[in-house]
Amino acid sequence: MRANGKIAVVGAGLSGAVIGRDLAQAGHQVEIFDTRDHIAGNCHTQRDQATGVMVHVYGPHIFHTDDTEVWNYVNSFQRFLPYKNRVKTTSNGQVYSLPVNLHTINQFFGKNFRPDEARAFIEEQADKSISEPKTFEEQALRFVGQDLYEAFFKGYTQKQWGCSPTELPASVLKRLPVRFNYDDNYFFHKYQGMPENGYTRMVEHILDHPNITVKLGTHFDRAEGKDFRHVFYSGPLDGYFNYEFGRLGYRTLDFERFTYDGDYQGCAVMNYADVSVPYTRITEHKHFSPWEEHAGSVCYRETARVCGPEDIAYYPIRLVKEKEQLADYVARAEQEASVTFVGRLGTYRYLDMDVTIREALDTARLYLSRLAESAPMPAFLHSPV
Ligand SMILES: Cc1cc2nc3c(=O)[nH]c(=O)nc-3n(C[C@H](O)[C@H](O)[C@H](O)COP(=O)(O)OP(=O)(O)OC[C@H]3O[C@@H](n4cnc5c(N)ncnc54)[C@H](O)[C@@H]3O)c2cc1C
Repeated sequence: MRANGKIAVVGAGLSGAVIGRDLAQAGHQVEIFDTRDHIAGNCHTQRDQATGVMVHVYGPHIFHTDDTEVWNYVNSFQRFLPYKNRVKTTSNGQVYSLPVNLHTINQFFGKNFRPDEARAFIEEQADKSISEPKTFEEQALRFVGQDLYEAFFKGYTQKQWGCSPTELPASVLKRLPVRFNYDDNYFFHKYQGMPENGYTRMVEHILDHPNITVKLGTHFDRAEGKDFRHVFYSGPLDGYFNYEFGRLGYRTLDFERFTYDGDYQGCAVMNYADVSVPYTRITEHKHFSPWEEHAGSVCYRETARVCGPEDIAYYPIRLVKEKEQLADYVARAEQEASVTFVGRLGTYRYLDMDVTIREALDTARLYLSRLAESAPMPAFLHSPV
């Protein structure tokens, strides 16, 4: 660690804002850089001028967590109001409830099962000839059988990942993706909600500290690190090293925005399971703020595709090739002095917001304790490999 000076935080998303705030509160001078002209990173929200709807600019973000400290942390910067994510899906011309639950099963098979009956029925459907599933498709067939797999998993997964489910590892589908009751709450977590005035207002409050300077529209390059005591970098890990080992693969998303006079689909998220429909889902943003009323509506039609150099990187692919590249970048990063790589891009992982905040809080704490002991700060809080 360099002895004196300011701390640089690259990225004004949740990772950067939370680390910056904790270090500022501990008395450090913090400069936060972001290439974009706004704070909050991919969680950025903006009220649409014409309709008044709060729009999740980079796709819908629902806050859910079991972490009480993180829940209290976000609520100390902005009140969270109750929101339950209930997703619907259109498959072969019919609307069903997701995740696949007792309602979905009864509707799909035209039955009137109670939970135990449904469980026995789905076990009969499962393909028991597959003893050790290796691919996503084998895992799904083994869990739920051909009919539910074809209707709800196959097409959606193919559109989301741009490849056949036979090319994805079984680990993508970790648990039995079916519930034998009528619980259609998408998430299991203890706390779930939406910030009353959007995520960007919340991040604005996190950044509101006299020791923090935010520089928007300012790209930060590796060479600039020498002017700072330490750098916390939440930008892309491969970008930091100028793509020395090639570009880490991502999926990007295209959002086709449209407005509607009234209520377009009656729910926040409608998935489209059929491969004949090119998009994966439509999100209607006013339903993410159920306490507000708006006559007009703003919707996003969402399509996933391979991420090019100029696109926004959304979902890390992390298959065999990418993991090999990642190992090279991690080894390289570990040789870099006075830089810690954080967040979804800095560690090349999909991270929910609560995990991002938890890791940011832990990173700031580790830094302060290492500083007190005059011990070096690691390049990563947890190894991303
Ligand atoms: C489509 C989608 C939906 C999601 N939905 C949910 C959800 O419902 N619930 C949930 O909990 N999580 C969700 N997430 C995850 C959530 O977006 C992340 O947890 C969060 O964005 C991580 O914050 P971050 O600060 O690490 O990264 P980011 O938000 O990406 O912030 C990084 C920032 O760094 C800036 N930057 C990068 N490089 C540089 C550089 N060299 N110089 C200056 N600035 C730089 C970027 O401009 C960016 O603003 C979703 C993610 C995606 C992709």
